[in-house]
Amino acid sequence: MAANKAALAALIEALGSDGFTTDPDRLAPHLVEWRKLYTGTADGLALPRDTASVAKVMAIAHEHRIPVTPQGGRTGLVGGGVPDGGIILSLERLRTIRAIDSLSGSVTAEAGVTLMQVQQAAEAQGLLFPLSLASEGSCSIGGNLATNAGGTAVLRYGNARDLCLGLEVVLADGRRLDGLKALRKDNAGYDLKQLFIGSEGTLGIITAATLKLFPQPKSRSTAFIGASSPHAVVALFQRLRDGFAEALTTFEILPRFGLDCVLACEPGARDPFTAPYPWYALIEFSSGRADAMLSAQLETALGNALEDETILDAVIAASLRERNDFWKLREALSDSQGIEGASIKHDISVPLSAMADFMVETMAACEAHLPGLRPCPFGHVGDGNLHFNLTQPKGMDRAAYLALWPAFNRIVHDRVLAVNGSIAAEHGVGIQKREELERSRSDAGLAVMRAMKLALDPLNILNPGKVLLPKA
Ligand SMILES: Cc1cc2nc3c(=O)[nH]c(=O)nc-3n(C[C@H](O)[C@H](O)[C@H](O)COP(=O)(O)OP(=O)(O)OC[C@H]3O[C@@H](n4cnc5c(N)ncnc54)[C@H](O)[C@@H]3O)c2cc1C
Repeated sequence: MAANKAALAALIEALGSDGFTTDPDRLAPHLVEWRKLYTGTADGLALPRDTASVAKVMAIAHEHRIPVTPQGGRTGLVGGGVPDGGIILSLERLRTIRAIDSLSGSVTAEAGVTLMQVQQAAEAQGLLFPLSLASEGSCSIGGNLATNAGGTAVLRYGNARDLCLGLEVVLADGRRLDGLKALRKDNAGYDLKQLFIGSEGTLGIITAATLKLFPQPKSRSTAFIGASSPHAVVALFQRLRDGFAEALTTFEILPRFGLDCVLACEPGARDPFTAPYPWYALIEFSSGRADAMLSAQLETALGNALEDETILDAVIAASLRERNDFWKLREALSDSQGIEGASIKHDISVPLSAMADFMVETMAACEAHLPGLRPCPFGHVGDGNLHFNLTQPKGMDRAAYLALWPAFNRIVHDRVLAVNGSIAAEHGVGIQKREELERSRSDAGLAVMRAMKLALDPLNILNPGKVLLPKA
């Protein structure tokens, strides 16, 4: 539904001409998403500066039944922030870090504060906010919570949901829900914040959050290993997790094809080994103790894994520069893969016990479906989460390849569901996976989701058409 003139006038009056615009040039960057797969439309862009102004926007939208699409850093990967008419509500001006409490181990930040700014604010107090994504310079805390973001330290610290102590939310009708408590224990009724975390802007507008902080690690050790197969990589993971418990902070898998993409287009990237290997893993340990002797222990563990031929090669970073070089290989992978052409992407998770067989069988099935296809599954294997990306065959027409996305969904997602996995591990559903969500959830599960949506947003103005398919 379009925003009518009276509603637009009310929004300008509430936010001032600086806080609400219909200027097409200012709207333009807010209509596309990171991957440029989707383009939207909108009648206006609201840029409130505080929670009270967000509440005014929602009250006006509710009164006039105008759809509202919340946006944070616009790094989402499933089209959840792409508007379909109505107005865009950008949280980018809610930029205040309201408090840091080092004794309670918490920080309270407004929704538009970038993830990196929260990390830096924690670091300035000698503390750690451990959520870590390659998009951290741009993505916002509000967006991180709205998508329940994961990243590279979930193994040790959990995902955004695990790191959230309290939320301030503006409801669909403009009422404010103040839950900014820094408590580790609070069973006083339903835990309302959980409704909004991971709801992708469909149940409420997150305006601020209280987040957990941790002591900064005092020692770290980072390794890069080469292996013959996903089975070998998973076997090493199990061995290291059992031996090192929570000190194992990161365990990421990369295929040779992915490394080749990074080496080809990332300035300064270098192969840590002289010989090529089919698979690699980036592994990091950290400890709150300065005398943890992590490198020595890691050296022994990897030495044993080399000796019994679980892995083929290993190198431990001898300097911060070398550690950063290893991380660059992982962090640049997502973007570098584009150099080889179009990519059909799946963000999936499966139980670790099924991971290696799943990878080998699903890659084979995809290659059999389209000879010349170049699978590039990579990512957070220690969390059971893979970005199961498939690069087009060399020379194939890009559009013709991308038209095969639904067919590859059947190959990949049907196998994911067969082992009781998830078709949306950390990026969410947005527009992209609505049909897949319908296939993967039970009727009862979908009915509960629709009931929650109806209870919190009876007029269906909050990011309509995202996550749940519109009713036929
Ligand atoms: C290079 C790159 C690497 C990435 N790596 C990872 C990764 O490792 N792990 C991972 O989980 N994700 C990753 N992502 C995806 C993305 O960064 C995350 O989903 C991030 O949490 C989105 O935050 P954002 O502020 O950009 O949200 P946006 O893209 O602006 O919005 C995302 C969704 O949240 C809603 N939303 C945004 N702000 C609010 C709010 N305040 N209240 C209510 N709803 C809101 C939007 O409507 C939309 O549905 C990556 C993306 C890129 C580009």
